[in-house]
Amino acid sequence: MDRKQLLERIRAGGVVGAGGAGFPTYKKLDSQVEHLIANGAECEPLLAKDRETMKQDREAFFQGLAIMQQITGAQNVTVAVKRKNKDVADSFEGDIKQRGYHVLVYEDVYPAGDEYVLVFEVTGRQIPPGGIPLQVGCVVDNVETIVNVAKAVAGVPVIDKYVTITGAVQKPITTIVPVGTTIRDCLKLAGGCEVDDPVVLTGGVMMGGVAHSLDDPVGKNVGGLIPLPSDHYLVRRKTASRSTYTRIGHGQCDQCSLCTELCPRYILGYPIQPHRVMRTLLMTGEPKARASLWAQYCCECNVCSLIACPEQLDPKNICVDAKALLREQKIGRTPEELEELFLPPHPARKGREIPIQTLYTRLGLTPYDRKADFVRSNFRPNSVAIPLAAHIGVPARPTVRAGDTVQRGDVIATVDENQLGCPVHASIDGRVSSVDGKYIRISAA
Ligand code: SF4
Ligand code: SF4
Repeated sequence: MDRKQLLERIRAGGVVGAGGAGFPTYKKLDSQVEHLIANGAECEPLLAKDRETMKQDREAFFQGLAIMQQITGAQNVTVAVKRKNKDVADSFEGDIKQRGYHVLVYEDVYPAGDEYVLVFEVTGRQIPPGGIPLQVGCVVDNVETIVNVAKAVAGVPVIDKYVTITGAVQKPITTIVPVGTTIRDCLKLAGGCEVDDPVVLTGGVMMGGVAHSLDDPVGKNVGGLIPLPSDHYLVRRKTASRSTYTRIGHGQCDQCSLCTELCPRYILGYPIQPHRVMRTLLMTGEPKARASLWAQYCCECNVCSLIACPEQLDPKNICVDAKALLREQKIGRTPEELEELFLPPHPARKGREIPIQTLYTRLGLTPYDRKADFVRSNFRPNSVAIPLAAHIGVPARPTVRAGDTVQRGDVIATVDENQLGCPVHASIDGRVSSVDGKYIRISAA
């Protein structure tokens, strides 16, 4: 197959970033680069889905890398893992050597899986502020995305999802479920919850969100489900309203600047200084005046809010709000400003990376620090709700109606070829029970 045909297979297979962002992979790969980096440096605490993806789908992983190397022309391929998963990299030694690939074993720190960090560690290059790896000759993809590339080229679309189900469950596991399986069904696979009033964090405890309901489905870009008691520290922090975190920040920030000193992007040289963004709260009661340019390159890693701030304030969310204002007001740094403010990495950077054990202790996660080994469940739910917009770009347009019969793997929604986005597929055999602007629901046959 030539390059164009491979890219079309990847698009038709609905492959999007499985690590969280959901960017359509065909678009990312449609470039020529020097470095291809397989991101297996899973840095969210408690999760093991990248580790298990590499172990369980080893053959597809290396096939996917070879396909991506063919498409992008990358001369260098690096598999990045964290030290805790070095055993997986060691088990790849034969394949790695035979193919002339490299391995990066990164310390067990947060946020090791940030593509800005990985690109710098592998190449010594800094991605321009607000830029993408392509600008410095790199493509970075999550290891599950790479497996999905191989499957799509073989004609199997993205209909299953690796997910770690952990936290306050009876038996933490990593498993594979059909895309669109509800959180409720996933929790049952882990033996059910240990608490009566769980609040489920999705994606990860640092960067992930909070599920609205146990009936929310697992989309193509969700890698972790972490139920916690409703009074858990992380739940309280993550569910605080804007008015609450703004009001508290208003009165209590003492400008110690620890949030900036520990900010992973700041220590990598980027012009982001959360303490200066917090300063805008001290200076004005007017929300519209809080569009601080020092927030512009925040990657929302949450180190400042959950680890750095001694007052338990929320500079991350203040930065998120400031970024929204910057977009709204269409303002940003000029190239001249960036030339002055974009610096080489901080000399103390390595000493300021956050050890994972610190996250466990500080975030009250030590009781949940249990293995989530792989269990092949072959689970077929009674119903699924397949999201139409689990990717960046335009939402997929349904091609089925309520009452239609579908089979696992059928296209049920599509995106025009000239638009950014991917088709969506049925993940179980059954009958379409409803179609709305967000989901196509299928009841099992
Ligand atoms: S969330 Fe905080 S620590 Fe992370 S990049 Fe943004 S300002 Fe820096
Ligand atoms: S660490 Fe907390 S108190 Fe210190 S400057 Fe940042 S937000 Fe303010």
